[in-house]
Amino acid sequence: MASKTLFQTTMRTARSQRFSLLVLSFLANILLLASSIYMLQVFDRVLASGSLDTLIWLSVIAIFAIITYGFLEFARRKILNRTGAWVASELSPAVIKRTISARLEHGRSPAGLGDVKDVRNFLAGDAILAFLDAPWTPVFITVIWLMHPFLGMIAVAGAIMLFAIGVLHDILTRHRASTAAMQMREVNNDAQAYVENAETLAGMGMVEAVLANWKRSRAQAEADGSQAEETSSVLYNLSRSLRLALQIAILGTGAALVLRAELTAGGMIAASIILARALSPVERAISAWKAFGSYRLASGRLERLFRMTADDQPQVSLPKPEGKLEVTDLRYFSPETKAPIIRSVSMKLAPGTLCGVLGPSGSGKSSLCRLLVGAWRPNFGEVRLDGASLSDWNSTERGKFIGYLPQQTELFHGTIAQNIARMGEVDDAAVLAAARKAGAHGMILALEHGYETEVGNFADQLSGGQKQRIGLARALYKDPSLVVLDEPNSNLDGTGELALQQALVKMRKAGQTVVVVSHVPTLLRHMDKIAVIQDGTVAAFGNRDDIMRDMMAKGRHVTAKSASQAAE
Ligand code: ADP
Ligand code: MG
Repeated sequence: MASKTLFQTTMRTARSQRFSLLVLSFLANILLLASSIYMLQVFDRVLASGSLDTLIWLSVIAIFAIITYGFLEFARRKILNRTGAWVASELSPAVIKRTISARLEHGRSPAGLGDVKDVRNFLAGDAILAFLDAPWTPVFITVIWLMHPFLGMIAVAGAIMLFAIGVLHDILTRHRASTAAMQMREVNNDAQAYVENAETLAGMGMVEAVLANWKRSRAQAEADGSQAEETSSVLYNLSRSLRLALQIAILGTGAALVLRAELTAGGMIAASIILARALSPVERAISAWKAFGSYRLASGRLERLFRMTADDQPQVSLPKPEGKLEVTDLRYFSPETKAPIIRSVSMKLAPGTLCGVLGPSGSGKSSLCRLLVGAWRPNFGEVRLDGASLSDWNSTERGKFIGYLPQQTELFHGTIAQNIARMGEVDDAAVLAAARKAGAHGMILALEHGYETEVGNFADQLSGGQKQRIGLARALYKDPSLVVLDEPNSNLDGTGELALQQALVKMRKAGQTVVVVSHVPTLLRHMDKIAVIQDGTVAAFGNRDDIMRDMMAKGRHVTAKSASQAAE
């Protein structure tokens, strides 16, 4: 566990910018003093001596200092922006990948892209600048104090009051603002769900009712949010007035000191300029601290995500398996409730076997499919393909030899050809072969753009059956050794079903091992073996004819029993 996660190494690289940032900040803050020194010199030296030469030289130097300051400030921001963007681009794909694994293995993920955004915002934002400038506040206040202790006292009092207002602001608004933000997010998610389920809402006239509910929750979120904003604006104005008052206080006190000859006019002006610089990090402190807080939380969550999901093992290239499937004492518990979903399933299938899976809904057929293809990692037992446990393979490597058609076919954003080619490099010949085998070729050609039709992202107009046939072609792409089809006929019409039957026959001939969840007799007719799943276990497994005979007998028994019960 001592090894560094990708998150840690990324953050370490990001932190290596620290030194250059510190140097730039040091120089920038020194140069910030330039304008006050300029004032000091102009008032005390030029006005006293009347030397135009001195004025010109001073001005040239001051302008040079200010321009240099501009460049330094620009460089600081650029480093921060670049670091933030780099960290986000490094972490985002890794986080998506880890989120998928965490979701599969633990039911949910502790972190997501929102956390990457928080980390990025902190690294690239004003918060870091405030932290970098903060050490200069005491330096500037000391400079003022050295000019005159009275002025120094005003500066200290001002810093304390501004900080107090910031703390007050945080206390008064933090809770409200965060609940409001959370509620707003929920409200927006709801609205998104309504749009996605437009057909259901429109079809049953639910739009008005749903909107009435939605308006209520939105109004609540809005009320909390605007109250927090009101408090914010009151305190913001208070701190702005305080800053103006401090300027007047320091100038007024300065003038009084000038009259008493304890300070020069230049010193008075310079002190007021330095005061503004000194207080700026104080004002930004609270918001910087908050950004730091969310950064800390986000990086904690990301750290947990990277710790709980393993790095992919180095890829061992395995030869294409023949398709010998062995399942031993497979068990899977719900990641959330720990309730058993699959309890001790064992079975063996020789290459080229077609196995039908039957069972009531909720018995665990789909869960078994997910375990067979390695989408879920079993809590106990294993699935072996040609003797190698699925969990020992790198998932990309393994996936090439496996075809899977889930119960709900989802296509991804891209063309049909890309989807069939599993979003990787499109091998045209293999795409065509897979589509033909799945009986989808004619249907795809009939579309206006054929294989180049864009699908996914709610943009497509494909029917459930069309999607399922493309999904089947995707499962058959490049003739995988093991094919698992979860209710592949649920959306198919007569021709689709016929195509599926033909595909099954071809797969057996090609020696592919096929597991099909289906209750349709015309499909079952093609099976060699049948597994009956009940309550997460295999209630019966064997040759098709034997199982079918047993089931018929039981079926008659059950029918007879219910008939006699009905008669009572
Ligand atoms: P079938 O496909 O036979 O209808 P499933 O395999 O979909 O059944 O579901 C079997 C049981 O597992 C059900 O009780 C279901 O609630 C539960 N289940 C399915 N998916 C999950 C999941 N991701 N997390 C927790 N429980 C699940
Ligand atoms: Mg199912």
